[in-house]
Amino acid sequence: MAQAEIGLIGLGVMGSNLALNIAEKGNKIAVFNRTVDATRKFYAEAGELQGQIVPCETIEEFVAAIRPPRPIIIMIKAGDPVDQQMELLKPYLEKNDIMIDAGNANFRDTMRRFENLKDSGLTFIGMGVSGGEEGARHGPSIMVGGTEDSWKRVEKVLTSIAAKYNEDPCVAWLGENGAGHFVKTIHNGIEYADMQMIAEIYGILRDGLKMSATEIGEVFGTWNRGRLNSYLIEITEKVLKAADPITGGPIVDLILDKAGQKGTGKWSAIEAQNMGVPATAIEAAVAARSISSMKEEREAAEKVLGLPGGELDIADKAAFVKDLESALLAAKIGAYAQGFAVMSAASKEFGWNLPMPTIARIWRAGCIIRSQFLDEITTAFTKDPDVANLIVTPAFAAMVKETDGALRRVVSAAVLAGLPVPALASALGYFDSYRRSRGTANVIQAQRDFFGAHGFDRTDGKDSHHGPWGSGLNA
Ligand code: NDP
Repeated sequence: MAQAEIGLIGLGVMGSNLALNIAEKGNKIAVFNRTVDATRKFYAEAGELQGQIVPCETIEEFVAAIRPPRPIIIMIKAGDPVDQQMELLKPYLEKNDIMIDAGNANFRDTMRRFENLKDSGLTFIGMGVSGGEEGARHGPSIMVGGTEDSWKRVEKVLTSIAAKYNEDPCVAWLGENGAGHFVKTIHNGIEYADMQMIAEIYGILRDGLKMSATEIGEVFGTWNRGRLNSYLIEITEKVLKAADPITGGPIVDLILDKAGQKGTGKWSAIEAQNMGVPATAIEAAVAARSISSMKEEREAAEKVLGLPGGELDIADKAAFVKDLESALLAAKIGAYAQGFAVMSAASKEFGWNLPMPTIARIWRAGCIIRSQFLDEITTAFTKDPDVANLIVTPAFAAMVKETDGALRRVVSAAVLAGLPVPALASALGYFDSYRRSRGTANVIQAQRDFFGAHGFDRTDGKDSHHGPWGSGLNA
C-alpha cells in the first residue's frame, strides 16, 4: 500500500475537519489520536474518504505509514500537550521529518521549540490555521513559519486544502520560526477588536435606539451588502435573527453576556506593548472581554452606581444608522492599521521580513476576519509595502477622512448617553493622536525632568536639556 503523503495527530474539532479536507483533496493521510476511540469514530464516519485515510492506533504504526521525510501536523490543545506529544513522537522520527504545530501556539513557545530541535536533524513548522471548524473542513487560511525548505515539502498539500480567493490560495510561507504563529496571533487580536466594535454598535442599536434583535439583524444584513461586507458581519446578522428553539424569542437575548478568551487577544496586546506599538483597539477589546466576565461585580456595581441615565440625542434615526455604518468602518480601519503596525515592528524585532501584502492577501478568504476590506488592504500594501501605517496610504487616508466624522458623532452620542464604546473610542483617539504633529507629551517630559531629572529635547534644538525647576529635583 502506498504510504501517506502526510500525517495528522489530534482528531478533535479542528484536526478531524482538517484531515477530511486533506483526504478530500486527493492526499493520502495517516491519522492518530491520543484516545483511540476518537480515531475509530473518525474513520467510521469518514464515508467515501476512507480510502484516503490510514487510521493508526499507535505512534509507531502512524509514523511507519507516512512517506519520509514525514510532515506531521499536530493539531491538539495548545501549550504543554504539544510539548508532551512532540516528546512522544521524537523517538520514532528520522532526519528531516517535519513536526508541524497547527494549534494556536504562543509564538514564543514556537521559537523555543525551534531552538530545542536545532541540532536534532528534525524540522519544525509553526503554522497558524484560521477559519474554525468550517474553514478547517472546506478551506482555512494558513500562515506558515519555518525554513523555506520545509515549506517546500508541504506547500503542495497545504495549497490544495487552503481557502481560495478568486483562485488565489490563502496560504503562504511568512518567514522563519515563529512568524506563522505570530501572524495568527495578530489575526486573532484584530478579530477581537472587530468583534468588540460590532458588539458596541449592537449595544447602541439595542440600548440607545431600543431596537429588537431581529431589527438589528436587518441592519447588519444591509451593511453586509455594502462596504462592511465580511464574514463577521454576515454571521452577526444570522446570530441576531436566530430564534431560540425553547422560547421562540431571539436566542441572542438569552445568551449570558460573559465572553470567553483563550489567550491570543491578550498575547497580541502584550507583544504590542513589549515593542512599544499602540494597539489600543485590540487592548480595549481584550479588556472588554475581561469586564464582561465580571458579571456578578457588574450587577453589584449597577445597584450601587446606577446607569448613567442619558438618552441618545438623535434628530434623524436613519442618518444616525448610516453614521453607525461609517463609524464601524472607520474604527475597523484603526484596528487593522494597529494590527499591521504590530506585525511590522515584530518583523524587524525578530528578523522575519514579514510580507504585509501577502498577509492581507491570505486573510481575504478562509479566516474569521475575511472580508472585501482585506482586498483593499492587499492593494494598499502592494502599492506601498513599507508604508509606516495603513492609514497614511492614499486609499485608506481617503477612507479615514470620509468616515472619521461619523465615528466622532457616534462616539460622542454614545458617551453622552452612557453607552460603553471603549473600542470605538480608542480607534478615534488613535486617529486623533496619530495625525496630530504637536502633541502634549512636552508636559510629560517636563514633569519627568522635574521629578526625575530625566531631561528633554527642545523644539529649537538648543543645547539645554533641563528645566528651570529650582530645588524641585527630588527623584
Ligand atoms: P478540541 O478540544 O476539539 O480537541 C483537542 C485535541 O487535543 C483532541 O484530539 C485531544 O485528544 C488532544 N489532546 C489534548 N491534550 C492532549 C495531550 N496532552 N496529548 C495529546 N493530545 C491531546 O480542540 P480544537 O480542535 O478546537 O483545537 C485544537 C487546536 O486548534 C488548539 O490549539 C486550538 O486553539 C486551535 N484552533 C482552534 C480553532 C477552533 O475554532 N476550534 C480555530 C483555530 C485554531 P483526546 O481526544 O485524546 O482528548
